[in-house]
Amino acid sequence: MSKLRVGILGATGTVGQRFVQMLERHPLFTVSALAASDRSQGKPYADACAWKLAGEMPRAVRELTVQPPRPPLDCDVVFSSLPADVGREAEGCFAAEGYPVISNTSSYRMDAGVPLLVPEVNPEHLALLDGRDGAFIVTNPNCSAVMIALALAPLHRRFGVAAVAATTLQALSGAGYPGVSALDITDNVLPFIANEEEKIERETQKILGTLRDGAVEPAPFPVSAQCHRVNVQDGHMAAVRVKLARKAALAEVREALTSFRGAPQELGLHSAPERPIVVRDEPDRPQPRLDRDAGNGMSVTVGRLLPDSVLDYRFVTLSHNTIRGAAGAAILNAELLVARGYLKA
Ligand code: NAP
Repeated sequence: MSKLRVGILGATGTVGQRFVQMLERHPLFTVSALAASDRSQGKPYADACAWKLAGEMPRAVRELTVQPPRPPLDCDVVFSSLPADVGREAEGCFAAEGYPVISNTSSYRMDAGVPLLVPEVNPEHLALLDGRDGAFIVTNPNCSAVMIALALAPLHRRFGVAAVAATTLQALSGAGYPGVSALDITDNVLPFIANEEEKIERETQKILGTLRDGAVEPAPFPVSAQCHRVNVQDGHMAAVRVKLARKAALAEVREALTSFRGAPQELGLHSAPERPIVVRDEPDRPQPRLDRDAGNGMSVTVGRLLPDSVLDYRFVTLSHNTIRGAAGAAILNAELLVARGYLKA
């Protein structure tokens, strides 16, 4: 199969750069177009983008001229990492013009006809795209919701989840570039990230929801989230407490997490980690610096798994927010779309 040509919206930003990096030698996709704001439009990518990732900017994109984020764009599929307000209009326009849109923004995540996809958890939600003839929007979750949903999925499947309380500690790169002021975050923790708590609560219910009569019925358990910005570069963490619908022994809960696999592993998708959930038994793990790159940034690490005296169990989960929480999640979604025949060269 010849490679699908990808256009990246928001290509100069934190997530856009991660897309460019992760797509450099991808077997299915090649970057053919880049778009960003009018600050960047008309410039070669190398001039428009202040490259912030380790390693060099890929040679193949350096001379591509940055375009406006609207159709037509010289590509077969659009990956979007625009701010949510801009993304709503731009992604809607591309889908209306017949492009498949793989979105990382929150703009369409809760729309009834749009899959909010975690390929290991709810690949069956792709049925929402049936009959769309290649023009659609598929979204990946919020960067904290994805690791919470992944860690809950095997527990929900095996025992039923009855209630969840999650407290996040979110890295600086989650706020984009330049993000939070150094004067606000040095020697400090910020207990507010706009709209984040609501996103985690409702997205977790949609991801773990059931597809019934062509619509996703949200999972019925309550989710309570509190979010904090902490002085860590990459890697979001969440301390999670969970009540189960049916009682389970600690060993059963641990086994459900460690044995969890999904469609990406069965299909051998390029970006799929061997283990979607890595369980660590050391008392001081997970830690952002040590665990964010597990599975090339695509595994979620769970540690501190213990019985809880208020709900049933508690654990700490961690994942790389710009990889499993953003660009890597979107790319894995696209790989599943190819494998399932929704995206064709
Ligand atoms: P960012 O670093 O601020 O980058 C924003 C990108 O959007 C830049 O390429 C910027 O272009 C472009 N842009 C801004 N305003 C625009 C406009 N009016 N028209 C066209 N393009 C515009 O943000 P980010 O962290 O990459 O986040 C991008 C999206 O991903 C957001 O929706 C965010 O919520 C979501 N997300 C981020 C993360 C994360 O960990 N950072 C994780 C999950 C989801 P210029 O360079 O030209 O200004």
